[in-house]
Amino acid sequence: CARSSDQQDVCYYDPAMDQALRHRLNIVDELRHAIARNQLSLCYQAQKQISDKTIVGFEALLRWEHPMLGAISPVVFIPVAEETGLIQEIGEWVLRTACHAASQWEQPYRISVNVSAEQFHHHDLPGLVREVLETTGLAASRLELELTETAIFTDMARARAILYELKDMGVSIAVDDYGTGHSSLGLIRDIVFDRIKLDKLFVQNALSNETDRAIIRAVIFLGHSLQASVLAEGVETEEQFAFLAAEGCDEIQGFLLSRPLPLDQLVATGKVRLLAA
Ligand code: C2E
Ligand code: MG
Ligand code: MG
Ligand code: MG
Repeated sequence: CARSSDQQDVCYYDPAMDQALRHRLNIVDELRHAIARNQLSLCYQAQKQISDKTIVGFEALLRWEHPMLGAISPVVFIPVAEETGLIQEIGEWVLRTACHAASQWEQPYRISVNVSAEQFHHHDLPGLVREVLETTGLAASRLELELTETAIFTDMARARAILYELKDMGVSIAVDDYGTGHSSLGLIRDIVFDRIKLDKLFVQNALSNETDRAIIRAVIFLGHSLQASVLAEGVETEEQFAFLAAEGCDEIQGFLLSRPLPLDQLVATGKVRLLAA
């Protein structure tokens, strides 16, 4: 960093910082071309109803495979996409691709799509959803949008209006990673959700930590009192599953059932059948 010679704070060259910055610039630059270069794809992770153990839906999860950098986690590139505004184009691609895929399935499974705060607040999400449903022919009742508490809290009044417009269209709304954001109770007091997705943090501590067990019970009770279904994410073991089932949780998602899989593997493993062309 350049400083004039009369300034006191001498700044040394930091190769680690330089590298981090280059890496970030590289990611931004590469992400800009990721769609056009066909590097993005979706994986789908099954969601099961506990009562009859049937698959009820799939969550679409974005994957970025870069020819030089390899597989880059959405935990890394989604925040970059949000900061740079690229999330708009990427989010639209995700919605379109997921709805199109689900429209080709013989079974009318629900398809859950993650929507980030940026997409939610700065663009006409209901308009986009309406257009994508029309284009793909997917019934609105099969689409679920997953939003985090933080996304909704950014502007509660606006969030309410957008969510009710979506719900009027027949789209369902889930609150994702529930319990890790803030003001969780205020949120579900003011907005009617179809589903609460209990964060995997609680699920994974459920067997070792009484506090986490208490939180899980409370969220299930709360969800049911508000006519919302409760889905536990990150279920990895039979023990976790048994606990959630005993507590009356409605649905589960996690490695115990299935990893997120690309579409061709969903078909190959018989999880979904494609409609005859
Ligand atoms: P999320 O929406 O909470 O998605 C669940 C994450 O948990 C996924 O990570 C999934 O692979 C992982 N997971 C599922 N089952 C298990 C399990 O049993 N154990 C463990 N340890 N993990 C499990 P993934 O795919 O890396 O995605 C991370 C996050 O990136 C997502 O969290 C979501 O916030 C974001 N994301 C992914 N795809 C999209 C997208 O299309 N749009 C937006 N806006 N965000 C996305
Ligand atoms: Mg999600
Ligand atoms: Mg989640
Ligand atoms: Mg998460």
